[in-house]
Amino acid sequence: MFQTYDDVADPTLGPDRAKKLQAELRTRGLDGFIIPRSDEHQGEYVPPHAERLRWLTGFSGSAGLAIVLLDKAAIFIDGRYTLQVRYQVDINVFEPQSLMDMPPAQWVEENLPRGAKLAYDPWLHTVEGVERLRKAAQKAGATLIAVENNLVDAVWSEQPEKPKAPIQPHPLKFAGEAATDKLKRITNQLQSCDANAAIITMPDSIAWLFNIRGGDVSHSPLPLSFAIVYEEGHAELFVDEDKIPKETRSHLGNVVTLLTPGDLGPTLDKLGTGKREIRIDPTTCATWIHDRLAKAGAVIKRGDDLCELPKARKNDAEVAGTRAAHIRDGQALSRFLAWLAREAPGGKVTEMSAAIQLEAFREETGALKEISFDTISGSGPNGAIVHYRVTTDTDRALGDGELFLVDSGAQYLDGTTDVTRTIAIGTPSQEMKDCFTRVLKGHISLASARFPKGTSGAQLDALARMALWQAGLDFDHGTGHGVGSYLSVHEGPQRISKTGHVPLDTGMIVSNEPGYYKTDAFGIRIENLLVVLPPAPIKGGEREMMGFETITLAPIDLSLVEASLLTADEKVWLNAYHARVTELVGPALSAAEKEWLEKATHTI
Ligand code: ZN
Ligand code: ZN
Repeated sequence: MFQTYDDVADPTLGPDRAKKLQAELRTRGLDGFIIPRSDEHQGEYVPPHAERLRWLTGFSGSAGLAIVLLDKAAIFIDGRYTLQVRYQVDINVFEPQSLMDMPPAQWVEENLPRGAKLAYDPWLHTVEGVERLRKAAQKAGATLIAVENNLVDAVWSEQPEKPKAPIQPHPLKFAGEAATDKLKRITNQLQSCDANAAIITMPDSIAWLFNIRGGDVSHSPLPLSFAIVYEEGHAELFVDEDKIPKETRSHLGNVVTLLTPGDLGPTLDKLGTGKREIRIDPTTCATWIHDRLAKAGAVIKRGDDLCELPKARKNDAEVAGTRAAHIRDGQALSRFLAWLAREAPGGKVTEMSAAIQLEAFREETGALKEISFDTISGSGPNGAIVHYRVTTDTDRALGDGELFLVDSGAQYLDGTTDVTRTIAIGTPSQEMKDCFTRVLKGHISLASARFPKGTSGAQLDALARMALWQAGLDFDHGTGHGVGSYLSVHEGPQRISKTGHVPLDTGMIVSNEPGYYKTDAFGIRIENLLVVLPPAPIKGGEREMMGFETITLAPIDLSLVEASLLTADEKVWLNAYHARVTELVGPALSAAEKEWLEKATHTI
């Protein structure tokens, strides 16, 4: 199984660990240390040895930061984790702070004593992140100091080893473009932005560029490594030799020079002595790299990671792959929904047993490489917790008259999936139906949108919310995020949200996941993935318009649809969607499952 259900919360260990860290601070003559929840690559998932924030405080969320001073400590979390932090962390030792209302920089400004030395590990902070903190420390009359040896590592006696998962070539039939061609595209871009080289620090960019996949973190096949791309057309990959099996060595042989992680520093020095112009992405590049380059004399040019956009625009092979992955995944999910319809009445199914069964159906496809994130399996009030993780402690039965929200996804060689369904167990209330139908109206509105080239996700976000807004309701998360191709389930730069200002482009994959959450009562979310389609004429229209193809295939619970709230066009969309689900998913199902699917997708 790829998911664990143990309760990772143990707030009793934090106080002692904070004391050890404070003792280490005193030994080194420092006054504080910053502990972000990140590794050297700033990804969403980090390997076990980099779970320093969790080890120190007990907090297991996917974003956060702690600052430990000699006499006090704070933990900074966003709105998703306000409740979680209270049962995972000893809040008498680590005072919880809202990242929005009291950002770390402001806290530093207000809490750091004059003359204090606040230390940080330059590998774990981005260039921009450190600049904000440095300004704040200066305002407090204190200094920010980079330390070579991480203070948490110094006191963490059983810190796991760095991961060394083997890196595999990603077959051309799935990647759709040879690594040499990708490299040519990136070096051309380098020339047009007048840089001599670019440092690539995001493992998913490296995976895309060289057509490789790794396994250093859970849920995402990332090869943790660094790369440098040169305008002359060659590239260097800095990676632990143990992670490169023979077949990968020959795959990479023509494309890139393999160097060890230890070679990175001296290589950066060389770029500096040559006074080369080097592009880095200040929002993701570790400040260690920036500082080393700057010290050596390199001219630093700030700009987006050059791989990000081309990686987001999936080519035909990647789109074909993701379609196939979604048919396979839709079959597994439909089998699960049929199983749920049979087993859930009477309270026999729990959140945990449901998540385990769903993974088992995905495993039965024979193609499952990983789940793309921990399944969110929330019944009743737990469904209203947006980032709920079921554990043996919180597990509850799917009760009659309740809603069950299940958000899950898979990693297959040909594509990454992410899908949410909300299911009524027994008979739903009118309020549930009303809210569900409004969420569905938003989902359909976005799925069927047509828009001119250059339109961004920010411009479309309201489509998914309008039906809720008109009833005085809303949801507090983005409508959609980018999705990788057998890569990260959350990838940029495009997204459907108030801040998604990157134009949507052909081949991009985004999620369409409006929701509604009634605290302590129920949660609703309907999530399908969309592929952005190229501009095409509209009958009788003057201009070509882009649009979406919905690629996720699984029934939407009709017992939650209040048909009188849907327009004729919305009914047409829903019926056509369900017809496509039956056509593409149906053939792989058993007779009993097929019979259930026919009923579950009947015309309304
Ligand atoms: Zn999801
Ligand atoms: Zn999603």
